[in-house]
Amino acid sequence: MEKVVQQTDYDALSCRLAAISKGYLPSVAFQVQRCNYHGYKEMHMEYLHSLKSVSRRIHSKIFRAMQNSFPVMNYGTYLRTVSIDIQINDFLKSHSKFQNVQIINLGCGSDLRMIPIIKNFTNVTYIDIDYKDSIEMKRKILDQNRALKKALESDDDGETNRYKLISCDLNDEAQTVRTLSESTSSDSPTIVISECVLCYMDDHASKQLISVVLDIYKTGIWISYDPIGGSKFSDRFGIIMQSNLRESRHLEMPTLMIYNSKETYSSRFANCNVEIKDMWDIFENDIPKEEISRLKSLQFLDEVEELKIMQTHYVLLKASW
Ligand code: SAM
Repeated sequence: MEKVVQQTDYDALSCRLAAISKGYLPSVAFQVQRCNYHGYKEMHMEYLHSLKSVSRRIHSKIFRAMQNSFPVMNYGTYLRTVSIDIQINDFLKSHSKFQNVQIINLGCGSDLRMIPIIKNFTNVTYIDIDYKDSIEMKRKILDQNRALKKALESDDDGETNRYKLISCDLNDEAQTVRTLSESTSSDSPTIVISECVLCYMDDHASKQLISVVLDIYKTGIWISYDPIGGSKFSDRFGIIMQSNLRESRHLEMPTLMIYNSKETYSSRFANCNVEIKDMWDIFENDIPKEEISRLKSLQFLDEVEELKIMQTHYVLLKASW
């Protein structure tokens, strides 16, 4: 199971690369102007290039998947990426006076947002956590690519001490507590990110993870993005998704039908102040008209109804404590 879950990162990366290749990302309005991300496309191309020398097999898998993305998937990747970037950026801007703010990306996979963030916010310590094999692969790629390595060595003295790549099985409570206690500070304002990660954990393990993290850090926000199965009797989205994943990949999403609505998903963070939206809410209400026109100009989107169904089944939660 661990291997299949790790491989879900190839989907996330290929979706991001597809959205970049078609021009959905970077968004000038959100990522460049608001979040000050520069060289977004270039850093992803560098990563893909170095991935090839680390594993030709994974590279060609990702490259193939990237060619086969549909417009609805590109919209989804765009929405998920920019809305998480904005949440992170807003928190960091409002905490710029703190000496240390930390970001803990749980199940980071090949996510590269640490690169612009480390550069833009000199008070940030960024901790990427994933399974051992995933971390080793990411480390190899970052180490052997000069441009990426240099981008992470953002301090004047060339030290990379604000970025940590750490392996940990988040299903293992003791290991998680030990890892977090050793590598983070419990007093610093903290952003926890779980982007498509809790959905692969079973209910007990994900509850433990949430409880442990909220216990360790005095104050922070948790940004979580996941699919939800749907709570209406006639809604077959989650059931179909589960059975497709099981059949095609032997992959389980154990809590998809437990936390199947915005309300039930929010209940996981009962002691926090929670804001939650589904991605269709975000698309309809938070993306300016000019940006929607830009997206429409990139590819012809025939399947608006399909986009709506998909995006009402993904949520972005911000829990503050
Ligand atoms: N968050 C990244 C993104 O959105 O681009 C990667 C998402 S990928 C769908 C899920 C990631 O979570 C994989 O890299 C996987 O290895 C990691 N993951 C899932 N369960 C985990 C666990 N128990 N411990 C550590 N990593 C885990």
